Amino acid sequence: MRVVMLLLVLCCAKVQASDPHSFSNFALVSHPELTLDLTADFDKQQLHGFVELKLDWHHPDTRQLVLDSRDLSIEKVLGQSAEGRWLKLTHSLGEKSPTHGQALRIEFPAQFAKVRIYYHTSPQASGLQWLSKEQSSEKQQPFMYSQSQSIHARSWIPLQDTPAVRLTYQARIRTPKELLAVMGADNSANSDKDGDYFFRMPQAIPAYLIALAIGDLEFKAMSDRTGVYAEKAWLDKAVAEFSDTEQMMQVATALYGDYPWGRYDLLILPASFPFGGMENPRLSFITPTVIAGDKSLVSLIAHELAHSWSGNLVTNDSWHELWLNEGFTNYVENRIMEQVFGPERALLERQLSVQDLENDLLQLDAKDTLLITDYTGRDPDEAFTQVPYIKGMLFLQFLEQRFGRAVFDPFLKNYFQTFAFQSMNTEKFLRYMRKTLLNDPDIVSMGEVLEWLYQPGLASTFVAPASDAFKQVDQQLALWQKTGNLTELQTNSWSIHHWLHFMGQLAATVDIAQLKQLDEAFHLSQSQNAEVATAWFKVALAKNYQPALPALEQFLMQVGRRKFVVPLYQQLSQQPEHLERAKALYQKARPGYHPLTQSAVDKVLKLN
Ligand SMILES: [Zn+2]
Repeated sequence: MRVVMLLLVLCCAKVQASDPHSFSNFALVSHPELTLDLTADFDKQQLHGFVELKLDWHHPDTRQLVLDSRDLSIEKVLGQSAEGRWLKLTHSLGEKSPTHGQALRIEFPAQFAKVRIYYHTSPQASGLQWLSKEQSSEKQQPFMYSQSQSIHARSWIPLQDTPAVRLTYQARIRTPKELLAVMGADNSANSDKDGDYFFRMPQAIPAYLIALAIGDLEFKAMSDRTGVYAEKAWLDKAVAEFSDTEQMMQVATALYGDYPWGRYDLLILPASFPFGGMENPRLSFITPTVIAGDKSLVSLIAHELAHSWSGNLVTNDSWHELWLNEGFTNYVENRIMEQVFGPERALLERQLSVQDLENDLLQLDAKDTLLITDYTGRDPDEAFTQVPYIKGMLFLQFLEQRFGRAVFDPFLKNYFQTFAFQSMNTEKFLRYMRKTLLNDPDIVSMGEVLEWLYQPGLASTFVAPASDAFKQVDQQLALWQKTGNLTELQTNSWSIHHWLHFMGQLAATVDIAQLKQLDEAFHLSQSQNAEVATAWFKVALAKNYQPALPALEQFLMQVGRRKFVVPLYQQLSQQPEHLERAKALYQKARPGYHPLTQSAVDKVLKLN
């Protein structure tokens, strides 16, 4: 018994024992390398083929491999024996969990080097969206893409779907000949559209960063190491909008060390993409709703790029610890924005973020406002509130302000280098801070740190960012309301950020006549900026300003980004006069939404 215990301790010292959002037994056996061979069938809305996993056994008695799966049809499982022969293995699927999918258990007669699983996906795969040609941006060819975070990789690949396990991979993807496949990997082997594509990802990543998209894509370079993949409709607009990407990379590498992934390209997805962006390594997936024509929303690119260090390089080891990915990323994002676009803009963006966080704090249970939140038994997608993002960022800004950048910048750079390609949790981070940063309680005490990490809401040491620019907007708003004279609003000098702050103050103060006055003067219902449009629709709904409704409906038909769509349906559903209209609209819009957006709106409208 003692010997076994000792072996367990020795062999598994490097990895944690379990992840509550994964069925897999990765402490006993893991897969450092994966090979995918898949064909995309757009008619059946299905990927089919096999995945081959190289196995690393960590315990001498283990004969079972447990993987994660969701809605997968497993056709057969083969294992490669020590003599190199492929033998059929028995397998079984466990009980279905609505949030976690199913365990796939594979039995081995001995510790084989490799296992190969033949399978196909279901059209309902939570991590894939299949778009008809009418739902693509160009409307000529179909489109499909994956979104694996947080636990959706298991809906298109049977594997250990936990951020605690890293793997390298190679892939062969077959598609209709007119389409191009791209992955969050080295795409350089594929120059022509021929329907047969090869990829290699030599750096070890967690499963949630495996990414695939297939569509009528074109490529345009922005610099030697950055470029854009997009449908024609977006290509030139995206290249112009994101032309600062190379400079952002230079700023980030100067602060945090070499960019570790080779190229950094952007993939522009159709407007149904449920998120702003997804930091798939080497190829960030980006919503077209940030292509505003004036670079006003490009902090999203700074954000996805920042993940190249925080998240992709040093990774939260479970979804309870999401702030280690997102809080650090928001902090780095704001540093990049400050250097590329100036301190004033960075300050305004911080201030708007804090307003978003404060709104979330009003709605969330206190237990969900801690930086480390226990999501055991829950869908880890629920972790993506403003808390890990903005509260996490504010904690790091608190440390930066107390220690000064001369100390804090090298600390962060060393942190990324020390833990590169590893999983991280808060306790480990705290130990590292104790050793390398927290040496003077007069600068920052342990009590102050623990309050940020383990207490709900905002810490008592939080200092709210405050800009003169927003104070002036508030003064102008008050003057306009007093005098009724719109010229009090000095909108010529306003950026999108001023407008967003303005909108945030409106619901509490305006009446319908004033909304009408604003709409006629500034055509807000027709705004082409998705952030401004959404903020305006929220005010319009709160005040029941009917003239905005047709534009709102058009917006909801075109855009599937959850950040915009879900709160708007939420507001619609809270007003009895709008509920039926919202349901009818949703029925039309739903087929164009991603499965993740569908399930969120289904919940809001109580359709399941
Ligand atoms: Zn992020």
